[in-house]
Amino acid sequence: MSIEDSANISTQSRGTRWGERGTAAATIAAALTFEQVTRFFSKKYAVQDFSLSIAPGEIVCLLGPSGCGKTTLLRIAAGIEHPTSGRILLNGQEVSGPARYVPPEKRSVGLMFQDFALFPHLTIVENVAFGLKALDSQDARKEACAALERVGLSGYAEDYPHVLSGGEQQRVALARAIAPRPSVLLMDEPFSGLDARLRENLREETSVLLKETRATCMIVTHHAEEAMRMGDRIAIMRHGRLVQVGPAKELYATPSSIYVARMFSDINEISCQVKGGVVETPLGRFSGRALSDGEGILCVRQRALKIVNPDEGRLGRVLGSKFLGDAALLEIAVEGLDSTLLARVREEEAPEIGAEIGVKVDPDRVLIFDQTMDNGPADPVTGVN
Ligand code: ATP
Repeated sequence: MSIEDSANISTQSRGTRWGERGTAAATIAAALTFEQVTRFFSKKYAVQDFSLSIAPGEIVCLLGPSGCGKTTLLRIAAGIEHPTSGRILLNGQEVSGPARYVPPEKRSVGLMFQDFALFPHLTIVENVAFGLKALDSQDARKEACAALERVGLSGYAEDYPHVLSGGEQQRVALARAIAPRPSVLLMDEPFSGLDARLRENLREETSVLLKETRATCMIVTHHAEEAMRMGDRIAIMRHGRLVQVGPAKELYATPSSIYVARMFSDINEISCQVKGGVVETPLGRFSGRALSDGEGILCVRQRALKIVNPDEGRLGRVLGSKFLGDAALLEIAVEGLDSTLLARVREEEAPEIGAEIGVKVDPDRVLIFDQTMDNGPADPVTGVN
């Protein structure tokens, strides 16, 4: 039986459907502030000069490739890791820094890590009640049951973790994280290891739950789509540094560098010369933001390429076509361009391989970067760009 099948069966038989709106216990959210946080390990900086303020109740997704420092930052916020320099503040009070260190259990911070391991020798309800040390056992159990109810697993309270599917165990971990009503919830890749459909369900339902609890939340993810769906804002990291932060639409429309642009969509990158803020290319003439003269890169999103009649656009030929369900991915040679382009079009509009076509570019979906815009090479240590 697949994880999805077993998850469906269980919610139908012994749990409530947790996709329905519920009433998770609300928390008093706290503002979380990173002030010039740096963490140096023996040979390298994991986090460098990271500053960010997260408003009470806000959900911020931390996005970046493996090794860019996301987990280290989360561990510092939780108090598990000490910053080499800089400060962490909760509601303006220093909890990590030169003057003060507040241990994790005193921070009202909930954690849900990638390896959320439930205790195998404790029942599900005991697992959820584990962090409720401040309450007597009866109240702890009541709170744990309420949290289990909210994730649709109250029917499993007396079972042991091994009877649950992966998705259900993740929901128990979520119940355990929200049960103490933390002011700040820190989640590190909370949906890793789940297949695509289950991941999507859990993600949507978790978003609803987080808004209900009203906790301030920081979620680490590798997935841009996940960040776009869940975050009020997205913070992009690279080599331990914050490179851009903002709502998804803003980052998508005005990325500060190719690095950020690449995170959000598949793009064609074409070398060009910038002169007076304008580039001339075989695809046409485009003007950008304040650009300095010299080498530049024209970025054309795959969906920005339109296929038209040969006499209505730049002349091209279809060299390859991949069926992607609703869409087709075309490889196109365009007259005057050294490298081929990839265009994503509606499947029913995809021309035959070998067809002569016209190519038009939607100028609103084009980005131009010049050499001053942090388009640098990969990190020499990690190989991460
Ligand atoms: P992933 O997405 O793969 O989990 P990440 O972005 O969370 O990666 P971190 O786990 O924060 O990255 O690690 C950032 C860098 O710091 C990495 O190069 C890692 O090897 C290094 N690092 C992390 N913890 C330690 C440690 N305890 N000692 C030495 N180096 C460390």
